[in-house]
Amino acid sequence: MEFRLVERMILSPCRCFLCQRNDGPAIDTTVQRPAPVGRAYICESCGRDLIRLFGGVTADAVRQSEENVRTMRRELNDAEAEVRRLQPFERAIASARDEHLTPAA
Ligand SMILES: [Zn+2]
Repeated sequence: MEFRLVERMILSPCRCFLCQRNDGPAIDTTVQRPAPVGRAYICESCGRDLIRLFGGVTADAVRQSEENVRTMRRELNDAEAEVRRLQPFERAIASARDEHLTPAA
C-alpha cells in the first residue's frame, strides 16, 4: 500500500471513503476493494482532520505560524528602534538627576 496525492478521484466510486465528498485533491490509498467499496480515497478535508488528530501540523497551520513569526519580528524591530530613539533621553534624564542630587560642596 502506497498513498499518493491525486488531483481528482477518478476510480469508482470517485469519492472520499470517509465523508463521500467527491471534489478536489485527495489521497489515493491505492486500496482497492470489490464493489461497492471500490477505490479508497481520503479527501483533503478528512486528511486534515486525520493529521490534526495524530498531532500533526497542516501546511496551512505552518503558513499561518510563519506569518505570525514575520509579524512578531516586525514588531520586535519596531520596539528595538523605539528603544534606540529613547536612549538619548534616558541618558539626559539620568545626567540631570545626577546633577540635581549631587550634594553641594
Ligand atoms: Zn472526506
